[in-house]
This record gives sequence, C-alpha cells and structure tokens, in this order.
Amino acid sequence: MSDHLATVAGTDVDTRHWIDGRRRGSATVFTDLSPIDGRPLASIARGAAPEADAAVQAAANAFPDWAATPPAERARLLHAIADGVHKRLDELAQVETADNGALLRSHRVGVMPRVAHNFRFFADRLLSLAHPDFATRGHTNQVAWRPAGPCALITPWNAPLMLATWKVAPALAAGNTVVLKPAEWSPLTASLLADIAHEAGLPPGVLNVVQGYGTEAGRALAAHPGIRRISFTGSVPTGRAVAAAAARNLTPVSLELGGKSPLLVFADADLDLAVDLAVEQYDNAGQVCLAATRLLVEEPVAAEFTRRLVARAEGLRQGDPRTESTELGPLVHPRQLEKVDGFVRRAVEQGARVLTGGSPHPQLGPLHYRPTLLTQVAQDSEIVQEEVFGPVLTLQTFRTEQEALTLANGTRFGLAATLATGDRDRAARVAARLVAGTVWVNCFFVRDLRAPFGGARSSGIGREGGTWSFDFYCDLHTTVTAPTGWSEHG
Ligand code: NAD
Repeated sequence: MSDHLATVAGTDVDTRHWIDGRRRGSATVFTDLSPIDGRPLASIARGAAPEADAAVQAAANAFPDWAATPPAERARLLHAIADGVHKRLDELAQVETADNGALLRSHRVGVMPRVAHNFRFFADRLLSLAHPDFATRGHTNQVAWRPAGPCALITPWNAPLMLATWKVAPALAAGNTVVLKPAEWSPLTASLLADIAHEAGLPPGVLNVVQGYGTEAGRALAAHPGIRRISFTGSVPTGRAVAAAAARNLTPVSLELGGKSPLLVFADADLDLAVDLAVEQYDNAGQVCLAATRLLVEEPVAAEFTRRLVARAEGLRQGDPRTESTELGPLVHPRQLEKVDGFVRRAVEQGARVLTGGSPHPQLGPLHYRPTLLTQVAQDSEIVQEEVFGPVLTLQTFRTEQEALTLANGTRFGLAATLATGDRDRAARVAARLVAGTVWVNCFFVRDLRAPFGGARSSGIGREGGTWSFDFYCDLHTTVTAPTGWSEHG
C-alpha cells in the first residue's frame, strides 16, 4: 500500500482522483477499511473544494465537444466502456467485495454484469429517443433533448459501482460531462471505472472522479455553481443537505434516498413464497435501500410464518463474503455495526422481543451481525419508523386489509413495497393504495431499466430509469417555427 496505489485482491487500484484525464493527488489521505477483517485496505486521496473545482472546470471544458459528439459515437464509446467492464468483471467483483463486504458471488453474477448493462442500456436508449414534433396552426414545434452541462453524481457504499454507473451512463449518453464522488467507505471501483473509460477512449474531462469525505468533497460539489445537475443517492439527512446546497444555484436535483419498506403477507399467500421473500431482505446484510424490513403478516398465518422464517434466518450461512457458499457477509464499517446494534438495543429497551439474532457475531469477524427478527414493536417506535440499514426485520400482525395498508403507509418513507397474496383482485387493490415508487407483487427486486425508479415522500425526489433519466439529464428545448416570414430564397 502506498499513497498512490493499493493492491487489492491482486488488482492495482490508483487511489488518487481522476481529473481531466490525469491522476491527481491531494495533500492528505484517508484510510479505507476492508469489512472482511476490519483492516486498512488503501490510503485514498482526500479531496475537498480545490479538487472539486478542478474537476468541475475540466468537465466544463470538455462539455462543448462531448455535447456535440454525434449520438452514435457517444453510444459506441459507452458500449466500449461496457466491454471494458466485462473484460475486468472478475477484478471489479473482487475489489468491490474487499471494499464493501457484499458477496463476491453476487458481484460476479448479478452486480457487475448489471454495471456493463447500465452502459449498454443507456447507449441504446439514446439512439431510440423520440424527438416529438407538434403542429400548431401551421407552425411546427420541434422538441430536442439537449445535454444540461457538467453533472455532479454522489453515491453511497452499499452498491458502489452499480449505483454510480446507473447515473454515469445516462448522464454521459445524454451528452453531459460528469464529476463522480463515490462514498468514502467504498471508493475503489470508481477509480477502476476511470481506467476503463480512459482505455475505452473517453476524452479527458468527460468523466472525472473526485475522492473524499462527503462533508468536504461532496459538499463542495453540491454547492458548485458550475454544476448543472446533481444526482444523489444516499441517506435522507444528506439528501436534505444536498438539496439545500443546490437551491442556492437553482441546480436541479434527483434524490434517491432511504426506505423503510413493508412486506405485506396475506393469509391467502403461498407461504413458502412469502417466507422466501422475507429471507431475501437479509441480502447484502440488509444494507439495501429497497429492503422490505417491516414484515406485516395477517394474523391467521403469523405464527406459522414466524416459525418458518426464524428457522430459515438461523440457517443462513454467515461468513466470509468471498466464500461461494456464504449467504450473509459483514456490515460495511465499524460505525455501521454500532449503528445497527444501537437500533436493536434501543428497540429491546422499548419492549421489542427478539425472535432471533439481536447481536453481533464476533466469532466470524469484527463486522458480522446476526440476522435479526424483532416483534412486539409499536408502529410509532424508532425501530419501525427509522431505516436501520442492517440485517434487522420487524414483524407486526394485522387483521384487515385496511389495517395492513395503514401500517404499510405509516412511515415518512415511500421507496418500495412488496406484497404476497394469492388473490389477484386484492393484489391490484392493495398495490394501488400503497405509497411507494415501486410495488412488487409475489416477487422482489425485479428491475427493468425502462421503468421509472425513485421514491415517494422522504424517499426521494424525481425518477430515473429509461426516458426519465434523459428527462432529468437534459434541458428539453422547443423550437416553434412559423409557416410565414420566409424570404424567397430561404
Ligand atoms: P450518505 O448519505 O451518508 O452518503 C452518500 C454520499 O453522500 C456519500 O458519497 C457521502 O460521501 C456523500 N455526502 C455526505 N455528506 C454530504 C454532503 N454534506 N454533501 C454532499 N455529499 C455528501 O449515505 P450512505 O450511508 O453512503 O448510504 C446509505 C443510504 O443510502 C441509505 O439511507 C440508503 O437507503 C440510501 N440508498 C438509497 C438508494 C435509492 O436508490 N433510493 C440506493 C442505495 C442507498
């Protein structure tokens, strides 16, 4: 490990910023820990306002040429980046696992292929964008999607490269230049992405990566007057700070924030399926914004559902995320473990009953937490109302559909909801009344990139995905032309 280079799982990662097609260091560094053993993994350049300024300037300089690059050429370069991701898929998976502790198997099979797909999807989408024209009393209205300018993309640690490229790909496809600020707990794959984009032939300044703390580098980017769009994924308090900073420059923001989503299990559901859906909520050690962490179960099946879920939770194979058979890896950082454990301890003090788990699992490593199920929790309690972001589920019961809806919609969040029922009419009725950006019926986490993604209430502002991403990353431009007033030669 040096100040500029870390060798992680056999891959060399440059730990400096990537600005204007060059590596650039900072006067100071910060330490990136591995969740696998809690030990230092890399020393990362600690960027702040000067690095943010330099990156925004580089993005502004590169913008006119990139915006004028024909869509087919932009699409070709995005496909070349996707090819580069495919070529280095295993390295990316290994580095991401070392850095954020999520399962290597899922990085290899699901996440990194999706990273490549993000680029391919938005490249193809760009080429099929409709440019609507309207006729008004003989006048033509021509609508064009015009790139907005340099974008700041600020991302969290729970799915670092997947969430970063979910923003980078559409922003670049639309003809914008970007400054990406990855989370300080998982900064490494963003640096590899810069290498891949460079090798693919992306011109200097089109993609810039600034490393650093949110309160330094992130804050400077969010407040920067040269930024024309901010897309942020992270927690509600940070989302508020980003929106407040953006307001000073009237910079449009897209905020993908936290969740406290419900899983509603009706007595008519396939109980095996319902239990499978509940167990899925422990994926990524519960560090998933969409996780349905509030289990709402109809009374007649609650005892049986609980019995089966506890058995399944206790049977989950916890351990090293690099081991093929592991089902539950560590939490990302010692502070996250403290936070998760604090939530559980306070819930128990307030009367919650631990059905399983409820404590760390230090024999497995410093950051493992047992899959936890709590019951006897009040709707207005902290554990039901606040996002824990760990392997902690609560279980409440209901008697009627209306009661289920009241509990489901009874938080300040509205990111997603899942329901298990065997009755199609009920599914349609309940889905229509759930306050959520996405409702899954008898399934979970099925995503189509053509569909809008985002949250209601405190879970966010705006939608990304498909054409909605282009809506956000473009300034829509209308030219109205009269049929009259033309010279004879015109
Ligand atoms: P966080 O809000 O702490 O940090 C997110 C990013 O913001 C990081 O890069 C951080 O450095 C930066 N940041 C921090 N303070 C900042 C500031 N003042 N100005 C600008 N940037 C700042 O979130 P986290 O802990 O990294 O991620 C977990 C959260 O993300 C959870 O709440 C989770 O639900 C949410 N999340 C949401 C989605 C979604 O799509 N809705 C997806 C994944 C995660």
